[in-house]
Amino acid sequence: MYYRWVCKHFGRQSASYIKRRGYKRAPRSVLPCGCSMSIHVSLDRVSKKYVVRRLNTDHNHATGPAEFASYATNRRPDAELLRKARLMMQHGMKARSVKQYLHMHGAKVTIRDVYNLRLKMSLGGHCFYLL
Ligand SMILES: [Zn+2]
Repeated sequence: MYYRWVCKHFGRQSASYIKRRGYKRAPRSVLPCGCSMSIHVSLDRVSKKYVVRRLNTDHNHATGPAEFASYATNRRPDAELLRKARLMMQHGMKARSVKQYLHMHGAKVTIRDVYNLRLKMSLGGHCFYLL
């Protein structure tokens, strides 16, 4: 048994991958930036214990609570909060106010997230479809 954990920014996104997927630029949600942080672990057959074989804890980018909170998957409001945000926008509340509301309730969305939500709602047509 051999396991390897790598940072979500491990490796590089090749230009051909970006082109093949039809992107004009690399997607920002998870952007490999050449980070080499990794942990390699294997099961020792004699001792029956896992042993760290290789360890590199150096990231080539900033890390910490602020960076963690900035990832799209960690910014996403839960279903109830999202439902309330949609209702607010259906009743004409400005994106900036919706963002403030979401921040007050722990969802650290960006203003772009709120614009994207509004766009999704307008593309969906009926609000019942989205709720
Ligand atoms: Zn990293």
